[in-house]
Amino acid sequence: MTRPAQALIDLDALRHNYLLARNLHGGRALAVIKANAYGHGAVRCAQALHGIADGFAVAFAAEAFELRAAGIEEPILILEGCFDSDELIESARLGIWTAVHQKSQIDAIEKTPLPAGSVHAWLKVDSGMNRAGFELYEVAAAHGRLSACTSVADITLMTHFAQSDEPETFATQKQIDAFDAATADLPGPRSLSNSGGILAWPLSRRDWARVGILLYGADPMPEQTHHLVPVMTLQSEVFAVKMLEPGESLGYGATFTAKVHMRIGLIAMGYADGYPRCAPTGTPIAVDGFVTRTIGRVSMDMLTVDLTDLPQAGVGSKVECWGRQIDINTVAKLAGTISYELLCNVKRVPIVYSTTSI
Ligand SMILES: *Cc1c(COP(=O)(O)O)cnc(C)c1O
Repeated sequence: MTRPAQALIDLDALRHNYLLARNLHGGRALAVIKANAYGHGAVRCAQALHGIADGFAVAFAAEAFELRAAGIEEPILILEGCFDSDELIESARLGIWTAVHQKSQIDAIEKTPLPAGSVHAWLKVDSGMNRAGFELYEVAAAHGRLSACTSVADITLMTHFAQSDEPETFATQKQIDAFDAATADLPGPRSLSNSGGILAWPLSRRDWARVGILLYGADPMPEQTHHLVPVMTLQSEVFAVKMLEPGESLGYGATFTAKVHMRIGLIAMGYADGYPRCAPTGTPIAVDGFVTRTIGRVSMDMLTVDLTDLPQAGVGSKVECWGRQIDINTVAKLAGTISYELLCNVKRVPIVYSTTSI
């Protein structure tokens, strides 16, 4: 038998979540499949969204080139933009759209010999996140320089939110207002919303959404109900059962000591597969459909779960680390991180695609 650890990806759930997010936002939506589609496999996810998605977004040029090489023909936006002229030339040749967030990128567009009308620029405005993007007072001048380039076919105005998944703060509304004020006199389509914007900020809904984490069904605001379906099930099996006597400790660091007789299941899943090492004793995990808990340290290739109250469970029992039964947000929170990081970190396990109807 081969090692039973795998990431099961439900492509129907991916399509469902995309359509749900786009309908909520209205207009068109880029499916954000950077970082290998948040660990789900960028090419397969793009193929599954063919004929449905209006386009895709990735972080950097090589990710976009890989999609084109795999035959993906939809629009693709590079969210960080190009790093040099070679990337610009290749992007223009392949019809890949590029973000422009700093002056050096405009310099490059001006200096690089590019065919007329070959550049589709997404001008990024820093509306308050203070990370990438032009300052509010620089936006009009940047737009003017890009408009003057014969290589530039069109300009979309975009910004990105720092706290869109915190509806109780006023920060996102401030960003929306700052963006609107800085771009009031500029033509072109707009793109403001990431997943949090789509869910919580109706006023951020414009021509294009950029849908990331919602696609994968990992709700950034899990306290509300949004009818998303988790796309990934990180699963494995029990491969051995052990007994712990009272006073015996378990695993590296002996972080867990049994107080009573316990039955322990060894699971083929560890931090080298992307299960977080920081997940403490007590992190929920499902065995044969019943929710139990991890105990002791997560090791590189295995982790241990409490089977004391699951006498029917044993070698071969199915285990869900996260998916439809175990909310990845719960695991992430206990491990001190967010679902995004857990999903991106999934590695080594085979990725298996299914299209079970939802
Ligand atoms: C990653 C990213 C997104 C997607 O964000 P989610 O919160 O996953 O929806 C949108 N826009 C930009 C600029 C990004 O870098």
